[in-house]
Amino acid sequence: MLKINLAIIGAGFAGIAAGLAAKEKKLDAVIFESEETWGGLCGNFTVENFRFDKAVHFSFNEPDLVKKIFHSLPHYIHGTESNNFADGSWVRHPVQNNLRQLPIEERIRVIKSFIEREEIPENKIEDYQKWLEIQYGKYFADKYPSRYTRKYWATNAEELSCSWCGGRMYQPSIDEVLFGAFPDSPEPENVYYTKAMNYPKFGGYKTFVSEIVPQLDIRCNYKVTAIDTKNKILTFANGETCQYENLISTMPLPYLAEMITKNPEVLNAADRLQSTSMALVSVGYNKKLDFPTNWFYVYDEDIPFARVHSPSRKSPDNAPENCSSLQFEIYYSREIPMNFSDDELIEKTLSSMEKIGVAKSEDVQVVDCRHVKFANVIFYKGMENYREIVRREVEKNKIVSCGRFGEWDYLWSDQSFMSGYDSVKKF
Ligand SMILES: Cc1cc2nc3c(=O)[nH]c(=O)nc-3n(C[C@H](O)[C@H](O)[C@H](O)COP(=O)(O)OP(=O)(O)OC[C@H]3O[C@@H](n4cnc5c(N)ncnc54)[C@H](O)[C@@H]3O)c2cc1C
Repeated sequence: MLKINLAIIGAGFAGIAAGLAAKEKKLDAVIFESEETWGGLCGNFTVENFRFDKAVHFSFNEPDLVKKIFHSLPHYIHGTESNNFADGSWVRHPVQNNLRQLPIEERIRVIKSFIEREEIPENKIEDYQKWLEIQYGKYFADKYPSRYTRKYWATNAEELSCSWCGGRMYQPSIDEVLFGAFPDSPEPENVYYTKAMNYPKFGGYKTFVSEIVPQLDIRCNYKVTAIDTKNKILTFANGETCQYENLISTMPLPYLAEMITKNPEVLNAADRLQSTSMALVSVGYNKKLDFPTNWFYVYDEDIPFARVHSPSRKSPDNAPENCSSLQFEIYYSREIPMNFSDDELIEKTLSSMEKIGVAKSEDVQVVDCRHVKFANVIFYKGMENYREIVRREVEKNKIVSCGRFGEWDYLWSDQSFMSGYDSVKKF
């Protein structure tokens, strides 16, 4: 049986960063990855020479170590302009600051509801729906972010806490709302939470960590199926086993809990940790289409996708010469399940794509539909308490759980990277 000092489960950005930190500490570490290749959620796939990341991925807000590693590779620096499509209108993002692109009656309703919004101290706000109403007014909340919540978070805003949203949702003053509502005022400032987005020139998003990978011992097709925490043994789907001294896991916390305990309280808590899943409909076009922004959001509930991005606009290296591409993200959850087959999803995506006028079916060269089980952690009210119960059990079993699904948090890739890197400090 293989005997190692440090076993790391998962070769996403968190597992790779843990491997890097272990190497710097001269620990004997092996990373076990269930898939055929490394990268995790930051990985990509290729269909007839069109490369697609798993959903939109850009790097921003990077701490020094991430900057040093990612920026050592050739990369594009993109701006952060984006658009929204709702009820037949295209509106610059965020809608609340760019009302002038909406019909006049709609602008008046939004502004009236913004002025009439209640004032409640932050600590008295019970859920995300209320938070939205307090920030934007009930009319705007219901019409835009609450509706989008059902598409992106696959639940209703009343079900969510607001612990995750502060820095991610822009909260304008009345002056800003009015400024953006008059057609003759200058273009409002772009208030997106970051001004620049980095993306590798070659190889897709995961290339940002590609210089670390050859220095590490990563074993792909090693899916951990059981963990014996008493004897410190991992069992893999391929029948092999391994004895570890220390263990870091980046696998989803609910799965980890199921492997290490039979305690009903912990298993019940683990079952309460829910995430969205996503279907990705990836489309390659036989010509260079001109997409005005790198990504856009769609609010209409009869259109399946919530967000669309262009891999070929992120980098031309993602598509064959004189071609272009889009990827459509469709979210679902245990609460709002996916009701369409892949063929139906493709059919609905292509017809909606035509309806909103972004591309024509006759230009489509390739279409792919695939699913990602773990997309975003859902911040259901009270989730943090259940997460704490599971985290305590993991700690009791002397496992360090890190990364987006190991911490069970809304982490960007740079934060997942640092979560993995810092996890090694515990040894
Ligand atoms: C829709 C969407 C858009 C995003 N956009 C951005 C963005 O623009 N910018 C950004 O910075 N971040 C973005 N992110 C976040 C980013 O994808 C994550 O922070 C990051 O990929 C998480 O890395 P990780 O290593 O923690 O987890 P993962 O990438 O999930 O890695 C975990 C690894 O563990 C493996 N594994 C699981 N179970 C086992 C097992 N039993 N045995 C062995 N291996 C196992 C998995 O196969 C996987 O490779 C986005 C995420 C989503 C869902």
